[in-house]
Amino acid sequence: MSKKEKGEKPSNFIRNIIIEDIKSNRHGGKVITRFPPEPNGYLHIGHAKSIVMNFGFALEFNGRCHLRFDDTNPTKEEQEYVDAIKEDVHWLGYDWGEHLYYASDYFDKFYEYAEKLIIMDKAFVCDLSPEEIRAYRGTLTEPGKESPYRNRTVEENLDLFRRMRAGEFKDGERVLRAKIDMAAGNLNMRDPVVYRIMHVPHHRTGDKWCIYPMYDFAHCLSDSIEGITHSLCSLEFEDHRPLYDWFLDQLQVECHPQQIEFARLNLTYTILSKRKLIRLVEEGVVAGWDDPRMPTISGMRRRGIPPAAIRNFCERIGVAKKESVVDVALLEHCIREELNRAAPRVMGVLDPVKVVIENYPEGVEEELEAINNPEDPSFGIRNVPFSREIFIERSDFMEDPPKKFFRLAPGREVRLRYAYFIKCTGVIKDQETGEIKEIRCTYDPATRGGDSPDGRKVRGTIHWVSASHAFHAKVRLYDRLFDHPYPDRAAKNGGSFMDFLNPNSLKTMGSCMLEPSLKDAQPGKVYQFERMGYFCVDKHDSTSGSPVFNRTVTLRDTWAKIEKRFRQQQGQKSRKKRRRNRK
Ligand code: ATP
Ligand code: MG
Repeated sequence: MSKKEKGEKPSNFIRNIIIEDIKSNRHGGKVITRFPPEPNGYLHIGHAKSIVMNFGFALEFNGRCHLRFDDTNPTKEEQEYVDAIKEDVHWLGYDWGEHLYYASDYFDKFYEYAEKLIIMDKAFVCDLSPEEIRAYRGTLTEPGKESPYRNRTVEENLDLFRRMRAGEFKDGERVLRAKIDMAAGNLNMRDPVVYRIMHVPHHRTGDKWCIYPMYDFAHCLSDSIEGITHSLCSLEFEDHRPLYDWFLDQLQVECHPQQIEFARLNLTYTILSKRKLIRLVEEGVVAGWDDPRMPTISGMRRRGIPPAAIRNFCERIGVAKKESVVDVALLEHCIREELNRAAPRVMGVLDPVKVVIENYPEGVEEELEAINNPEDPSFGIRNVPFSREIFIERSDFMEDPPKKFFRLAPGREVRLRYAYFIKCTGVIKDQETGEIKEIRCTYDPATRGGDSPDGRKVRGTIHWVSASHAFHAKVRLYDRLFDHPYPDRAAKNGGSFMDFLNPNSLKTMGSCMLEPSLKDAQPGKVYQFERMGYFCVDKHDSTSGSPVFNRTVTLRDTWAKIEKRFRQQQGQKSRKKRRRNRK
């Protein structure tokens, strides 16, 4: 039995560390993780990777995972984002229980720790301007220069720091810095800033503070205060780990969590940076954070992507220590896999053309049985109405078809899904434009249900809706937001990721005809329109009895092809190897 069949998770280096730590009783055998978003934007699929990992490990090892808002920069943070993040984490299927925290709840403690550092002569108040601090910092090849304020007495530092807090100085006039080593090889250790002055009210603490701690100081202390055992963060913090440890060592805290870095998720055809996503929203490129084309959790939810597909995707990509870019086709594959299981089938014609069945009696209608999900009999069956006039997809008919076209054409016969065989007898065109207005057919009453008793075969099966029963709806076809696989990288040569927006990322189909069972489809529900893809009822624009559909994903699975080719190549290689070995 494979690991997957046994329900075991594939191993990765973080899981291995945790298992070892439990064995050796490090951290008392406990596993306490946290997901620490900064509430300055909406969560995206990259955050989902971190969420699935942090909450996943907590669940797997009987520990717990905290949701902590890293809200130490009041200029960019808002309550709207806090609420959205909570909703998204819950929707993904995780629960922090009573462990909801805010770094801002620790502002008093951080302040005490900062004074402690000063008293230990490990921090000083510096009057250099931000530009001067940068200039004094040195480079990777040159050591930095010590600040002229570095040797202030403890008393003077304490006095100045208290006056910073009291609001005596303007923004940028002074900072508190750790006193470490201006010649350190790691630039983060060259007397980093610990506190800065910002006369900006905070969304939770109001006007109480005009000094705010820097990320590196606040983060390790928040982890320590909460008793975190494993502090998982993305690779860019690897160089910050010595500082993380330095603060905790100097302050001799009781709990010293272990920082472990992993590679961020990058996806082809996708931007995963809140700063850039904000730009798309602010410049009106998309219709908000939850535009179905956005890689945000809320956009994906509105698009109809099930949370299980996202969790599954995150499990499959695994956790590594090396940067890589994941093919977005894998995400789409996981979405199809989940929806194939979970979405009922229906029929909808996106670009309709009318078909009149000449030998079907006028004024008659009948109900035909259709299967709701061939993957799962428990979905049952439904009745779809049939009558003399139907709509089919315009692209399912060709007047002058090439050889390999197996759908409807003059003189050719196709199967109408769940209904009858029909044969085309002619077309009626618009006199002026030449556009096909109507297709004329005959049907074979003996083929009811879609099978011919005489064993006659047809090559094509097409979907349809009964013209008098179908209803008119708007359907939006979404595609990738960018038409370049690496919009970020491609933008490096002087351009911007905005140069790679896909002009066809949204196509609105205004005259779709859908089967009547969809009339009362509930917002958020996803269906498979047979042969056309998966479609979700939009939660903003649908009204009762008049749903608007968003395409979640098409049916064409490019990832399955990639995997198949890969397996074939592997097979060829091992066959070659075996042959070589035999020789
Ligand atoms: P962005 O670069 O989009 O602004 P961020 O890292 O600033 O993201 P935070 O709110 O600080 O966003 O992130 C919260 C957590 O999510 C952090 O632990 C961070 O490492 C993780 N995270 C963010 N982006 C990704 C990603 N692409 N892949 C994996 N984890 C991520
Ligand atoms: Mg961040």
